[in-house]
Amino acid sequence: MDKTLPPRAQVVIVGGGVIGSSTAYHLAKRGWTDVVLIERNQLTSGTTWHAAGLITTARPSSGTREIVKRSLSIFESLERETGFATGFQRTGTLHLADGPERWEELRRQASACRGNGIRVDLLTPDAARELFPLLYVDDLVGALYFPDDGRGTATDTTIALARGAGQLGVRVFEGVTATGVVRKGDRVVAVETGQGSIEAEYVVNATGMWGREFGAMAGVKVPLQALAHYYVVTDAIPGLTPGLPTVKSSPDYSYVKNEGAGLMVGFFEPGSYPWASRGIPEDAEFTRLPEDWEHLGPFYENMIKRLPILAETGIRLHFCGPESFTPDGVYHLGEAPGLRNYFVAAGFNSIGFLSGPGAGSVLADWIVDGRSPIDLPETDPRRVAPHETNRRYLEKRVTETLDVAYEIHWPFQQRTSARGLRRSPLYEQTRAAGAAFGELLGWERANWYAPPGMETADAYTFGRQHWFEYSAAEHTAVREAVGLFDTSSFGKLLVQGADAETVLQRVSANDVAVEPGRIVYTQWLNEWGGIEADVTVTRVSEQEFLVLSGPATIGRDTDWLRRHIGPGEFAAVTDVTMAWAMISVMGPEARRLLQPLTDHDLSSEAFPFGTSQEIDLGYGYVRATRITYVGELGWELLVPAEFAVHVHDTLAAAGTGTGLRHAGYHALNSLRLEKAYRSWGHDIARRDTPLEAGLGFAVAWDKPGGFIGRDALAQQRERGPARRLVQFALDDPDALAYHDEPVYRGGVLVGALSSAAYGHTLGRTVGLGWVTAPEPGTERSWYTAGTYEIEIAAERVPARASLRPMYDPAAERPRS
Ligand SMILES: Cc1cc2nc3c(=O)[nH]c(=O)nc-3n(C[C@H](O)[C@H](O)[C@H](O)COP(=O)(O)OP(=O)(O)OC[C@H]3O[C@@H](n4cnc5c(N)ncnc54)[C@H](O)[C@@H]3O)c2cc1C
Repeated sequence: MDKTLPPRAQVVIVGGGVIGSSTAYHLAKRGWTDVVLIERNQLTSGTTWHAAGLITTARPSSGTREIVKRSLSIFESLERETGFATGFQRTGTLHLADGPERWEELRRQASACRGNGIRVDLLTPDAARELFPLLYVDDLVGALYFPDDGRGTATDTTIALARGAGQLGVRVFEGVTATGVVRKGDRVVAVETGQGSIEAEYVVNATGMWGREFGAMAGVKVPLQALAHYYVVTDAIPGLTPGLPTVKSSPDYSYVKNEGAGLMVGFFEPGSYPWASRGIPEDAEFTRLPEDWEHLGPFYENMIKRLPILAETGIRLHFCGPESFTPDGVYHLGEAPGLRNYFVAAGFNSIGFLSGPGAGSVLADWIVDGRSPIDLPETDPRRVAPHETNRRYLEKRVTETLDVAYEIHWPFQQRTSARGLRRSPLYEQTRAAGAAFGELLGWERANWYAPPGMETADAYTFGRQHWFEYSAAEHTAVREAVGLFDTSSFGKLLVQGADAETVLQRVSANDVAVEPGRIVYTQWLNEWGGIEADVTVTRVSEQEFLVLSGPATIGRDTDWLRRHIGPGEFAAVTDVTMAWAMISVMGPEARRLLQPLTDHDLSSEAFPFGTSQEIDLGYGYVRATRITYVGELGWELLVPAEFAVHVHDTLAAAGTGTGLRHAGYHALNSLRLEKAYRSWGHDIARRDTPLEAGLGFAVAWDKPGGFIGRDALAQQRERGPARRLVQFALDDPDALAYHDEPVYRGGVLVGALSSAAYGHTLGRTVGLGWVTAPEPGTERSWYTAGTYEIEIAAERVPARASLRPMYDPAAERPRS
């Protein structure tokens, strides 16, 4: 082990747990050996030392499943490569279902995993017992079996990774605490430690549950909070078979695996509590929290039914340790907002060991290649909303993350803690209209509207939701009359300055150097032609543009724009989301509703599609933009916050006789999917190009000066894409898909749905999905010609494919 810190290194990794060690090892394997890893105490002394060692692939998103697949293949070779044991064994995992709904959840999960090529079998309860004979299965309806899952020893694996990194030239320092991070402008330049500072081109925050505090040293928000997390190890059980599959018994909030000559029974139970939310004690190392049998006892007692042997077996170890959880239950992996070359890899929600080898290898590729090898919008540190590092918020919300970890994950499920945080200026008005609110990054948003007297409380199912008919009525109102959406949570950026046009032109694939009053739909691309953002840009005046983004993408879009303002260029980017409410008035009757309320001429001649004007409305003024995300005639009204209530009430009062209805986000999703409008982070992301995504119409190939990503895109145009985003409609009108369902063409797996919803006009589920062709340049007709099936809950449902929107393919309605 090195003793003297170097004055500089290409990469400084802070944190010697599994994540930091894996990143170091994989950077070295990529040939980057000018790497320093510093650990305040001993390697593994944070959380890693006490990980139970489960390696399970059933993760909630495609990207995070791909990371575990990488982990598994690293586990296969690590011992051979480094000479250090990892304790890795492929034992498989059983997931148990105790009722039809849990069974449906598992079957849907099985299908999603198959979309990533993961092997999974559906078993009867008896077949599950054959694999794990000690199990009580009489109350079960089925089980999933993942034969390729495994288990390993977290400490040994981490030491193998760190020593392996050392063998390749990485310098590893224990007993060195990072005390600060130095930034120069928007770039990280050094890490300070008690033993001096180290200049660095790249810094990795792999400090586990210290991630929030360490992030704050650089002004980077990393929302995570440690919770108490438990397992119990039994005494030896005579005759116990070694190498049993791990059992995940979600109905019992528990998992079980062999541990020595006994069993380990671990818990993801409701009612845990935050630890050290006001600051982790200075002396925290190999931390064990006090036993709390009063809390854990009932869960353990309950497990005796599932594993009767526990009743006659003593307990050798009752362990409780802290582990960091995040508000949305997803870890943070990627570059930080506002600070170049500072990467976050923290907040692993008790799956850090199984994700660690893969996450470290992805991060190493990301740093070396400049982009992630896997699209991971869900782990992007730029998704963080401003309130998410608030201690009181974190204590509440993160506790709920653990509470619900082993509950059934329903479609449209809402969190219940720390609600009511970010409210539109129209919150009270929409509430009075019957809004059932859902939450997105703290925003309370009307998902659907209940008729008078009806409860808006959530009630979940995998089938048709209890709000189906109300949302259908909202959808129909938009298609046949007019709907009013409160879309105030959409992100709004004002881009101003003498160079605003230059910056936006460089960043946008479409031509935004238009006349004031024009609105342009565009993607912002990276140098590989991948889509970093999907926005509209409205030119307000010569030096002023308004960028409209999603509530969940505003942080990353702001970051992307700011980092592309060149030295000496004069352009300011300001988030003005809360300065304006936004009301979308959509439907064939929109003009008839709005025209009497304004002196401006709203005819297509005076106010064509794709234009924007400031107009009077009621007694106030709004910016009206003729654009649509639902495929109908309509205007998005950007309303200064102080006029919002007045404008809303004026519209509502005038709506009588036009069929006006308040409409929510569930209807919006159904409407946009019928029109095959894309959503960034769901359907499109950083590794998808506009040509693949069917957005070639928004590329201004010949605009002066070009745009970022043009060269890569031009090369792809030459070859032709090898995959495309396709719209699907299910043949069976009762089948319901949501997202992540695998797509088969002629019986061969070709992709998966990226989003889906019931389309009330088409009368069936409609979705968007990626389809990979046999080779680049495959004819468009190939994509629609095949026989398609979508796998839903382990059953294949025939589907129709189209590259043109199934609803209003000629896009006549928005222009009417
Ligand atoms: C009871 C329990 C069971 C678990 N079981 C599993 C399991 O079966 N499977 C699984 O995948 N996961 C499991 N986990 C979770 C897993 O242990 C963690 O997700 C994982 O170890 C996190 O690794 P890390 O590298 O992010 O963090 P850590 O291991 O905590 O590493 C971070 C390191 O950073 C160091 N550090 C912090 N600040 C500084 C600083 N300023 N300067 C220098 N160094 C610093 C710390 O000392 C620490 O060593 C379990 C967790 C618990 C509590």
